[in-house]
Amino acid sequence: MQSQLTNDEFPESDYRLKITLRIALSSIILLTPFAINNLLKHNYLLAIGPTAVSLLLAVVTWRNRHDNRATLTLYGLVPLLIIFLTLIIKQHGVIAVMWCFPVLISFYCMLDEHKAMLATLMTLAVIIPQIWLILDAELASRATVTLIAVGLFSAISARATASYQQSLKTRAITDPLTGLFNRSLLNVTLEQALGQFRRTGAPMTVILLDLDHFKEINDSYGHGAGDKVLTEVGQLLQSSTRLSDTCFRIGGEEFLCLLYGSDRANGLRLAEALRLKIQTADLLDGETVTASFGVTCLTAGENCEQWCKRTDEFLYRAKRAGRNRVMG
Ligand code: GH3
Ligand code: MG
Ligand code: MG
Repeated sequence: MQSQLTNDEFPESDYRLKITLRIALSSIILLTPFAINNLLKHNYLLAIGPTAVSLLLAVVTWRNRHDNRATLTLYGLVPLLIIFLTLIIKQHGVIAVMWCFPVLISFYCMLDEHKAMLATLMTLAVIIPQIWLILDAELASRATVTLIAVGLFSAISARATASYQQSLKTRAITDPLTGLFNRSLLNVTLEQALGQFRRTGAPMTVILLDLDHFKEINDSYGHGAGDKVLTEVGQLLQSSTRLSDTCFRIGGEEFLCLLYGSDRANGLRLAEALRLKIQTADLLDGETVTASFGVTCLTAGENCEQWCKRTDEFLYRAKRAGRNRVMG
């Protein structure tokens, strides 16, 4: 699998923003009765502190919703939370220990894994010594173990969720038969290439290929044999292109290779080499398999849609001219 693509198609900032806002809002709702009660009892720090932190969390998350700096700002909130916990442990004792639990869990909902781990370690390192100062040894050891367990369980479940999510993302963008990228990532990849071309002027070339008379292969040799041909063509494309290039299976027997930094002449050369490799490879029990190719280099002033349309036209011309040829 090509390595240079990130999963920008699936931004994490959106769901992280939602989680953070929901945590902040539910904290405000849960804390309001306690805040009023504490206000009536003149415990101003306990009354204002937690609600203020939750409000601050909601405000900074909302303000940073467009530039994904929420995690950065949250980093500033972690020390604030620790200072707050420290103050209320000193003033109100064991009550504050309970307050640590939702805080520890919320780190894993709001921050990415490593930052959450660091935030947990920072909190535990500051809070646990204080617990030992205010509680007797038996209670302190129980509180310590429980806090560590909450931190650990949150870390374990965050890790499991992240790896499950990663495997879903990979599946969503991968064609299971060939292991190439599927069509879902094509548009975003071409747009990125267009952006890079406009910024740096580096040439970008697309090779579009379609296997010839593939329906007949299926009809004569069976779907299994057809699948084997597709898999081997996928491998052939993968092994014949550079690591920086990206290959897709964009339809049944249609493939696309995006060549970064390659001009038209390079693209035509590679397409011709691929055509020969497919024709001479033993893909189907001695039967020859061929493909037709359209090759285009992105031109200034062109958008992705026009680029693809032009490539499609060259492929169509290659088909009309008798197949098993490169046009570009
Ligand atoms: P042309 O030379 O004009 O491209 O003709 P063609 O027969 O290759 O094109 P056509 O579009 O008529 O047929 C494509 C065939 O590809 C039909 C479909 O059954 C087959 N196909 C699509 N996806 C798969 C797949 O995943 N596995 C297999 N074995 N066949 C597939
Ligand atoms: Mg075909
Ligand atoms: Mg086709």
